[in-house]
Amino acid sequence: MGDAMKHLSRRQLLAAGLGVPGVALAGLGIERIIGRQRHLRARGVRALVDAQPTVDGAGVKLSRAIGSAVLPMLDPFLLLDEIHSDRPDDYLAGFPTHPHRGFETVTYMLEGAMEHRDSLGNHGHLGPGSVQWMTAGHGIVHSEMPKQENGLMWGYQLWVNLPAAQKLVRPRYQDLAPERVVDLELGGARVRLVAGELSGRKGPVEGIVTAPQMLDVRLGEGGRFETEVPRDHNAFVYQIEGSALLGPEGVRVRAGQLAVLDEGDRFEAKGGPGRFLLLAGRPIGEPVARYGPFVMNTRAEIQQAVDDYRAGKLVQM
Ligand code: FE
Repeated sequence: MGDAMKHLSRRQLLAAGLGVPGVALAGLGIERIIGRQRHLRARGVRALVDAQPTVDGAGVKLSRAIGSAVLPMLDPFLLLDEIHSDRPDDYLAGFPTHPHRGFETVTYMLEGAMEHRDSLGNHGHLGPGSVQWMTAGHGIVHSEMPKQENGLMWGYQLWVNLPAAQKLVRPRYQDLAPERVVDLELGGARVRLVAGELSGRKGPVEGIVTAPQMLDVRLGEGGRFETEVPRDHNAFVYQIEGSALLGPEGVRVRAGQLAVLDEGDRFEAKGGPGRFLLLAGRPIGEPVARYGPFVMNTRAEIQQAVDDYRAGKLVQM
């Protein structure tokens, strides 16, 4: 099947429940389009989505794969941004002081350096290979600024939702230096395991309510990789470099594309050379009200977050 068949319109994505809060990923017309087989347990590709160029923060140019008009969310994932530029004008403006409430932000750096400061007094550097998993919960006010004046900046920010019962928890950071991430050599694949389990090892990120799986997978030419993915999780692949062939049908995903994976309990990729992120998380299935850096369940809770921020009460001391 040609790749063109996988490029679905916004209407088709919405028809399949993608991007609609609280709607399970039960395929409708799309199953027919991609010929999904009912009893196959290996995950196929439901849709391919191109990351959309956008500008955020104080003027940072980035590519948005989740959180755009094409794919507003993939429960529990609310946003996936990639910064990838060696032009300082694209990234120097950074993300000056701003708040978050009601969800988690995950920063994963490939190249370059960011400096982070927050309202709780935390201060840290994020360099190549490092991960920060921040549970904003009740509220955090922070800045994320480039710690370089030139050179390549390459990294990701993922937003992961929290269920109603956890939206106002105390903020928590898991700041992981590159050596904390588990490195595995599996056949033709080199894998960095950030969260979840693989080959009897556990990733360093712990205690996250959506039980995420986060892997950075490098496939050599003709390489192959497979792993279990919990059946009840929503999952996607974001291609970082090169390409890969995903699922039993070998659907090609290219750099800058996100592949929404079908239901199943196993993931397989072959082909390469290429590098991709594999993310899976348990869907929350609650209504989502989002406004800028706040993600709650209702408009009233959003208004409360705005009011609390204005009144200096977002951050609990
Ligand atoms: Fe932030």
